[in-house]
Amino acid sequence: MISVQNLSFQYAAGNAIQFPDFTVTRGEHCLLLGESGSGKTTLLHLLGGLLRHYSGSLKIEDTELAQLSEASLDRFRGQNIGFIFQRNHLINALTVEKNLMMAPYLAGLKIESERITEVLSGLGLAEKRKSRVTQLSHGQAQRVAIARAVLNKPSIIFADEPTSALDDKNCERVIHLLMDVANQHQSTLLVATHDQRLKDKISNQVRLSSL
Ligand code: ADP
Ligand code: MG
Repeated sequence: MISVQNLSFQYAAGNAIQFPDFTVTRGEHCLLLGESGSGKTTLLHLLGGLLRHYSGSLKIEDTELAQLSEASLDRFRGQNIGFIFQRNHLINALTVEKNLMMAPYLAGLKIESERITEVLSGLGLAEKRKSRVTQLSHGQAQRVAIARAVLNKPSIIFADEPTSALDDKNCERVIHLLMDVANQHQSTLLVATHDQRLKDKISNQVRLSSL
């Protein structure tokens, strides 16, 4: 499903970041561990096609990402990948519902109101559908970000430090929520974190070394 070999990436200013080889099979959950600055976000952005021009090999479903055109990559991402960013990237001016509608809209898929209902209910957010993002607690906003990421039933979910700003109780909640939503559609789940609390939650782990 995901295969990384001999991968390295260089920002315009900076040293090349070298990543370890690993594979994640379909439906598997995997932790991407490493200190701050070790390249976790960079790797997720490469895997999601948000950063390009890497050297080495980066394959999703036997497709070498570098071989996709920008337009096919956008489509591929929208239809196959759910991204939960380090900062939740919700649009504050819009309601919860409108934020969720962005996911199918940007992927060129049909917007299904029932699917929005289903996902919001599943995450305990049904009453927040018409609320603006600014009216939510941090934990609720985090769940909306998860809802948006899973709305299109992606085959892969990437989460970047989903628990680092949360207390123990919400940390526990969010990681189980992510694993549950991934299991519902046999999605592959890759969670990047330096949060030691997650180490016992997912046994399959890839460790990035510090530079
Ligand atoms: P992590 O997510 O593990 O904290 P990052 O992927 O954010 O690590 O960063 C890896 C390295 O790349 C760091 O040294 C960081 O300073 C550098 N880096 C990250 N983003 C950029 C950027 N946009 N331009 C230049 N260097 C960057
Ligand atoms: Mg990061």
